[in-house]
Amino acid sequence: MLIDSQAVHSVIGTFCGLYSNGPEPYQVTGGIADEILADLGAEGALNPISGRRNTRIVQYDEVALARWVERRVTSEARITPILGAMARAVERDGRRLTALHLATRHGDLRVAAEGFVDASGDAVATWLAGLECREPVAPVHGTQVFVLEGIDEARAPHRDEIEARLKETASAHGLVRLDGFVFVVPGTGRALVNMTHVKTPLDPVGATAAALAGRAQADRVLDFLRQEFPAAFAAARVRIYGQLGIRQTRWIVGGHQLGVEEVRAGARFDDAVLRCSWPIELHHDETEAYWEVFGDDHLHQVPLRSLLPPEADNLVAAGRVVDGDVAALSSVRVMGPCIAMGAAAAHTLDLAGAGSVHQIDIARLQDRLADNLVRQG
Ligand SMILES: Cc1cc2nc3c(=O)[nH]c(=O)nc-3n(C[C@H](O)[C@H](O)[C@H](O)COP(=O)(O)OP(=O)(O)OC[C@H]3O[C@@H](n4cnc5c(N)ncnc54)[C@H](O)[C@@H]3O)c2cc1C
Repeated sequence: MLIDSQAVHSVIGTFCGLYSNGPEPYQVTGGIADEILADLGAEGALNPISGRRNTRIVQYDEVALARWVERRVTSEARITPILGAMARAVERDGRRLTALHLATRHGDLRVAAEGFVDASGDAVATWLAGLECREPVAPVHGTQVFVLEGIDEARAPHRDEIEARLKETASAHGLVRLDGFVFVVPGTGRALVNMTHVKTPLDPVGATAAALAGRAQADRVLDFLRQEFPAAFAAARVRIYGQLGIRQTRWIVGGHQLGVEEVRAGARFDDAVLRCSWPIELHHDETEAYWEVFGDDHLHQVPLRSLLPPEADNLVAAGRVVDGDVAALSSVRVMGPCIAMGAAAAHTLDLAGAGSVHQIDIARLQDRLADNLVRQG
């Protein structure tokens, strides 16, 4: 969940997929997104950027976001959080998951519940329950994002100029990736840098090696910035290396695999739970990401069936673990749709109660999710 997620610990830094496309984008996901935008906006912790990828994205201060979530979880939502817990096993009785076993530094826990959301990024609950999962045929690269401090903002070149210079000089600087961005955070002397590509294996030794390789790449990106743009970056230092950002590892087999052609066509589903206009954004190629940006009126949907493993009655997936082909997933795993999936998962389990998530009243669910399906503004 957000309290411990990549949004904070990998310093992703921008909310994408929250708005429609075109010159006058409107918000397509509400719920807690409304509250985050209102509260962080009032704190001066947001910086909206319009026009990029034909939509609006919103830079956020990750410390402010972390505290917002912690406050919401503990004081208002009456949730009992367990920090640093690792899911180790799942108990299952036929079509129902019954309990989750967690390890923490303070001892082990068994958490029994009527329903479960798998928002683990790696489909951990689904996999531990012995349900079918998918893994990419070719690796989808992750990224070591990092924050620089000590930059001279007034002399910082536009991010497009930096990207163009990277393309020309990457091999001279020992860099594998030829694209990415440097977002200056106005008024802070800081910048968020997303310019590395690393494989993200699921085994512990490989995952650690990848994290360290990502940091080494980040250091070379800093050398590139210092040497190519000394006026702005000569005194820059790394303030934070986020946790290695992981795009795609393992995800569920759902009742419907969202396909790239459905995304391109803006297919409509009877059981839709969200809409989104974010581009196809593939990170297969180590050197460059592939982008397919959609037109002004484009919106695609995700059906509830893509969140539901067919063999379980009380498990709903949310986030980058829902079922789609790799290209389709690349357009629905950004944070706007992830937030909408969280809302869909919670309401689906609430409506199912002791029954099955496959037999809920879809009209009632969509009524509750109206902000994420039909609201315009
Ligand atoms: C480098 C990079 C840049 C991106 N840029 C953007 C961007 O600019 N804007 C945007 O909107 N999106 C961006 N995305 C996409 C977006 O950040 C992610 O897809 C999104 O954060 C996924 O959210 P999630 O909740 O599904 O998974 P995660 O954020 O990965 O959260 C999964 C949670 O599950 C926990 N977990 C995993 N395994 C276990 C276990 N065994 N036991 C207990 N807990 C476990 C993890 O600790 C974590 O807290 C980017 C992604 C990457 C990798």
